[in-house]
Amino acid sequence: MNSEDCIFCKIAAGEIPAVKIWENDSAVAFLDIAPVSDGHTLIVSKQHYKTLDECPPEYLAKMLSEVGKIAKAVTEAVDSEGYNFLCNNGRAAGQLVDHLHFHIIPRNQGDGILKGWPSSEYPEGRAEEIAEKIKKNL
Ligand code: 5GP
Ligand code: ZN
Repeated sequence: MNSEDCIFCKIAAGEIPAVKIWENDSAVAFLDIAPVSDGHTLIVSKQHYKTLDECPPEYLAKMLSEVGKIAKAVTEAVDSEGYNFLCNNGRAAGQLVDHLHFHIIPRNQGDGILKGWPSSEYPEGRAEEIAEKIKKNL
């Protein structure tokens, strides 16, 4: 079921324009309207799922069936040295559009984008404690 007020549902349905580069039955890929770098691409589900965990595995597999090929085509087109593949889920993680999508962001040495993130250390036993909780939820 698609959401009436969702911008990505409208793009996926062809109701509003986007610079599309690829599509299959489950997803469409187009250039981000406010690119972090040249070639910044979004792979967007055709069905309205809000987050990654809402999307059934079979659908996700179809959505991402050609992700490597798309990433290679994008990075070669803009002659970049690498790329990030990202999926923001929830406001706290920077998700602005509540419709499942993946970013391909072309990267070059010293471009200053996504300059690392803070890292920390687990105190003794904490990693195992968290891992146990995660495993119970799977
Ligand atoms: P998020 O933060 O939700 O992971 O990223 C949403 C992305 O969608 C942003 O990078 C934003 O620039 C892009 N975006 C939002 N609205 C539109 C639109 O109407 N067209 C296109 N092509 N990209 C959009
Ligand atoms: Zn939607």
